[in-house]
Amino acid sequence: MTLLEVTDVTVKFAGLTALDKVGFTVEDGSVHAILGPNGAGKSTCFNVLSGVYRATSGSVRLGRRELVGLAPHRIAALGVARTFQNIALAGRLTVADNLMLGRQRLMKAGFLSAGLRLPQARREEAEHRRRVAEIAEFIGLEDHLHSPVGVLPYGLRKRVELGRALAMEPRLLLLDEPVAGMNGGERREMAALIRAAQRGLGLTVVIVEHDIGLVMNLADRVTVLDFGRLIATGTPAEVQRDPEVIRAYLGA
Ligand code: ADP
Ligand code: MG
Repeated sequence: MTLLEVTDVTVKFAGLTALDKVGFTVEDGSVHAILGPNGAGKSTCFNVLSGVYRATSGSVRLGRRELVGLAPHRIAALGVARTFQNIALAGRLTVADNLMLGRQRLMKAGFLSAGLRLPQARREEAEHRRRVAEIAEFIGLEDHLHSPVGVLPYGLRKRVELGRALAMEPRLLLLDEPVAGMNGGERREMAALIRAAQRGLGLTVVIVEHDIGLVMNLADRVTVLDFGRLIATGTPAEVQRDPEVIRAYLGA
C-alpha cells in the first residue's frame, strides 16, 4: 500500500528551480532513500514534505490527505516527524526534556484538544515520561536521560534527534542525513537503529543521504535527484547500475 505519493513537485526560488516535477511513491512500512549530490534538492524535498516550504506546483499526498499548503504543525499532527540536517535540539535541556518536546506536539495535537482536564494532566505527564524513558532505552541513551544534550558527543546528539522524532509516535519519519559527520561505527549503529524503528515500530521511513553505501544497505527503494531533477528510482541494486546515477556520482 502506498503511504506517500509525491507528484510533479516543483519548487522555484528566485531564478533557481530547486525541484523540477519530482514524483515518487513510498510504500507503507518501507525505508525509502532520497539520494543525490550536494545541492540536488534533497533537503528542499523534505522541507516540502514537512510543510517548511510550499511547493510552487505539484502534490504531496499522505494517504488521501493533501499536504501541500498545510502548515508544519498540521503535517506533524498527521503523524509526520522529521529530523534536520543540522542538529536542532535544545542544548541546555536534558535528553529527557528534549524527548518530552516531541511528546508535547503530540499532546497539543491529540489529547489536549480532546478536552484533557487538569487533574488528569499529571497522570498524563507521568505516562509521557514513562514513554520517554522507553525511547531513551531504544536509542541507547538511558544512562544519559538527565544529561544536558549540549554536553553529549555529536554521535549521541544525532541519536537524541532520532529519539525526539520517535517520541512523536509518527507514521512517517523523515530523516535528513542522519549519519552526516559520523564515523564508521556510529554510522552502523544509526543504520541499525533506523532498521529497528522500521521493523520494530512498523514505521515508514524516508531518509535523505548522500552516502550511497549507507543507502544501499538500508533502503528498500531509492530515488535519485540531481540538480533538482529525478534521474532514477528503483531498488538499490537497480539505481546503483543506472548510467545517469553513475555519471552524477562519478562526474563522468
Ligand atoms: P541538498 O539537500 O540536496 O544538498 P538543497 O535542497 O539544500 O540540496 O538545495 C537545492 C538547491 O536549492 C541549492 O541550489 C540551494 O542553494 C537552493 N536552495 C535551497 N533552499 C533555498 C532557499 N530557501 N532559498 C534559495 N535557494 C535555496
Ligand atoms: Mg541537504
